[in-house]
Amino acid sequence: MWKKYKSQMLSATPMRLFALVFAFVTLNAHAQDTKEVQPWVLSAAQVHQGAVVMYQKRIAELDAAQLLDTDADFLVKAARILTRLRAQAALDFPESRDWRWEVHTSAEPEETAYAMAGGKLLLSLEQARLWNLSETELAMLIAHEMAHALLAHNQDEYAFVLDQFPEWRLRSFAELEQAVDHDTQLIKALAPLGKEQEFQADQAGWRLAVRAGYPIAGLLRFFKKLAKLASYPNFESASHPAPAQRYARARQWAIAPDDSAASNAR
Ligand SMILES: [Zn+2]
Repeated sequence: MWKKYKSQMLSATPMRLFALVFAFVTLNAHAQDTKEVQPWVLSAAQVHQGAVVMYQKRIAELDAAQLLDTDADFLVKAARILTRLRAQAALDFPESRDWRWEVHTSAEPEETAYAMAGGKLLLSLEQARLWNLSETELAMLIAHEMAHALLAHNQDEYAFVLDQFPEWRLRSFAELEQAVDHDTQLIKALAPLGKEQEFQADQAGWRLAVRAGYPIAGLLRFFKKLAKLASYPNFESASHPAPAQRYARARQWAIAPDDSAASNAR
């Protein structure tokens, strides 16, 4: 759930609780007693369940504030795109075949697009309106968010934290879940990895959308808007690569004779 409240859509990929196939996370409360860290296998089901709880909590908050799915037409469009992309994802990432993908929209101005473990998506109505996204451009955004989940980026993040900060092996998974969003030290330490993951999500999302049949010109326009609408297109943010750099990479994929430029996305 880190990077939850960034101001850039797509460039912000807050909730990073994506699908874990099996995260070999060593967490054990008893380890404090024994001074020995017991291996504790974190299953995909556990991680997905944790994500579902957080997702439902956020959905309920938005609902209570009358900020949930306030634009029926946009929601229908997003759901249609998700249906198309998830069908392709089921082929390219077979482990996602049984995921219960879900998409909702938030009218909260500060909310940004994000994806959670197992395919729970939240999109920002405000950003979609400001960016005036076409169907294909929206598909690129959704594909990018889906890619974070499909690439199990959170698994890498947890593994990174447990490797670099072994003391976290003695804490519970729930604490770690919160910490990657809120612990300043961890957020800072994870930033370089997060930026690399943004590039990966761009690339894998691009490939997913292309394979699902979306026109390249429209997908590229998404990145053009990303660069054009950024306040400082040539500068990276605390959590994201420079928009101009992302656009430049997408231009390379667009001129590739096939999708080989993106074929190493996984
Ligand atoms: Zn992202």
